[in-house]
Amino acid sequence: MGAEERAPCAPEAPLLVFTDLDGTLLDHHGYGWQGAAAALAALKERGAPLVFVSSKTRAELLPLQEQMGLAGLPLVAENGGVVFVPPAWRDPLEAAGDQISFSPAGVVCLGAPYARVRQVFARLRQDYGAVGFGDMEAAEIAARTGLDLRSAARAKERECSEPFVCHADVAVLKKAVASAGMTVTCGGRFFHLLAAGQDKGKAVRFLATLYAQMRKQPVLTIGLGDAPNDLPLLRAVDIPVVVPRPDGSRLAWPEGRPRLAPLAGSQGWGEAMIRLLAELDGQA
Ligand SMILES: [Mg+2]
Repeated sequence: MGAEERAPCAPEAPLLVFTDLDGTLLDHHGYGWQGAAAALAALKERGAPLVFVSSKTRAELLPLQEQMGLAGLPLVAENGGVVFVPPAWRDPLEAAGDQISFSPAGVVCLGAPYARVRQVFARLRQDYGAVGFGDMEAAEIAARTGLDLRSAARAKERECSEPFVCHADVAVLKKAVASAGMTVTCGGRFFHLLAAGQDKGKAVRFLATLYAQMRKQPVLTIGLGDAPNDLPLLRAVDIPVVVPRPDGSRLAWPEGRPRLAPLAGSQGWGEAMIRLLAELDGQA
């Protein structure tokens, strides 16, 4: 089904926007987001929540939310494993008597707790010489990623996944952890060990359901991403938007023609969002 067929039937429905960060809302080079500033302001004016859905940790995402004026909104960290749910969004669950266990900070773990991840990771360390963030000093993570020391320390604050380096083949690593209910994915720089079945889409559907319950009406979801680990996110929303890479290439979208941002990074994000909002207003 193409983007056109997926287009909203109720353009006046409350909007909820999910976005990947690196290479999507944040520029590939320099991690800037100013190109999207006007679109962010337009979403804020509409009262449309913008939810970060990232492989970064919650500790890394919180300062970014703050800088972009989005503090207090939900967050999806560590590739869908960690979801922060603000109090107002939790009310429908509590009213329904749902037994989802939130931490005192309002976080629900949709993956495996970090202690369990590290327990399984010990096999990869022993049998394949894998080295994880839990084994590295912040300085080493900084050197490998180009993050500053403070951000590298935040990247170490894992809750349910372990990035690691290893010379073994991903298929071999996957097989080694499958019996423990875990899997291995390939990121840009690192492998990631995480619970099998954990992805960005599961977390997006969870938050979209909560928001619809809170608003007591169907909501219209938009999702933006640039990489293969964003496919579950893009499939979980009503309007998927693919942001191209700086070289003009883009994520292969198996389901037909996606809505495509006109440029890479924050500029493309911003222009795509402004156009989309104008289209929705035109339909209303
Ligand atoms: Mg990305």
